[in-house]
Amino acid sequence: MQYKHQYVDGTDANLPVGKVVCVGRNYADHAAELNNPVPTTPMLFIKPSTAIVPLSRPFEVPVDFGSVHFETEMAVLIGQPLKNATHAEVDEAIVGVGIALDLTLRDLQSKLKQQGHPWEKAKGFDGSCPLSAFLEPVAVGDLQDQQIRLTVNGQVRQNGNSSHMLNKVHPLIAYMSHYFTLLPGDVVLTGTPAGVGAVNPGDKLLLELGSQLRVETQAI
Ligand code: ZN
Repeated sequence: MQYKHQYVDGTDANLPVGKVVCVGRNYADHAAELNNPVPTTPMLFIKPSTAIVPLSRPFEVPVDFGSVHFETEMAVLIGQPLKNATHAEVDEAIVGVGIALDLTLRDLQSKLKQQGHPWEKAKGFDGSCPLSAFLEPVAVGDLQDQQIRLTVNGQVRQNGNSSHMLNKVHPLIAYMSHYFTLLPGDVVLTGTPAGVGAVNPGDKLLLELGSQLRVETQAI
């Protein structure tokens, strides 16, 4: 099925589906739970467009590469090109806010980190970014006061607030644009709060952003 960026009311965002630019360790409590130091500058990585699948449908968990972890993250849809952007330019370019899973092959990632190798296989594999439909930014309000919640099989596993981000959304996206031009249809993932854990086929997930976005899905 061809993926399309959409708004929650079903309107087509009329944007191509581009890359996903992500930040690691953007919440101190998550860095601590994996025994990672808090980075002094944003730690960026990219998922290709082939990572994106609709969150609203059952998503496949790879079974051949060790443990798969969920990371629940606020997602931002970019609507205008950004290169060496100012905060004001970033603000104008944000055309949607949603929620996503940054699926991670944790065993493989640990091995790659030990070897000093890049993470792409652990973070950018096909289907590694189940992504919701988007809310209009005006409907979301303050991006730094959003509750990000994941419930798995009826148990709350992640429940953090975007006020605790180490790099706030606007400076983060401006920083990203110094290295990677962001194009209309690209998506930015803003990091995960604490509580990450394994996701297995059959798990039922509920992802919530504040009280306005609520997506039920299942791992298969
Ligand atoms: Zn992440």
